Amino acid sequence: MTSDSLTSDDIFQCACCGQCCNGFGGTYVSTEDIERIALFIDTDPEDFTQTYCDVSANRFVLTQGGDGKCIFFDSEKYCTIHPVKPDMCRAWPFIAAVVREPGNWDLMATTCPGMKKHVAHEELVRIVARERKEAGFSD
Ligand code: SF4
Ligand code: SF4
Repeated sequence: MTSDSLTSDDIFQCACCGQCCNGFGGTYVSTEDIERIALFIDTDPEDFTQTYCDVSANRFVLTQGGDGKCIFFDSEKYCTIHPVKPDMCRAWPFIAAVVREPGNWDLMATTCPGMKKHVAHEELVRIVARERKEAGFSD
């Protein structure tokens, strides 16, 4: 296979290890995320941010449980809000910031065993852009 034919499956296969729910860096939630999740868990956005969020760099992030994992992580079910999880989780690892700088992808791969390292940067940029477009993200 030539590098031109690499697909997202070639560079990422989720190992379902749950490490990305550990909370390092925080999971940002947008206004749309907050409204969607609040509805799903039958509360309102204000109560949701007070109960389930912290503030980091002036943005809401999901708070962590006592085990250091996201408050919505469950060791058996994994993500308990999977159908409405934040865009950041839905897109992972195909997030714009990951390919903004060469080396970011491999750095993130040290905490995500599903990400293949040492992929050419231009291939990463191409695949991430395609995945995000197909997933409906507008950037
Ligand atoms: S850390 Fe990576 S491999 Fe593990 S569950 Fe998250 S996305 Fe999947
Ligand atoms: S919302 Fe779900 S997928 Fe995202 S960090 Fe929390 S448990 Fe993990």
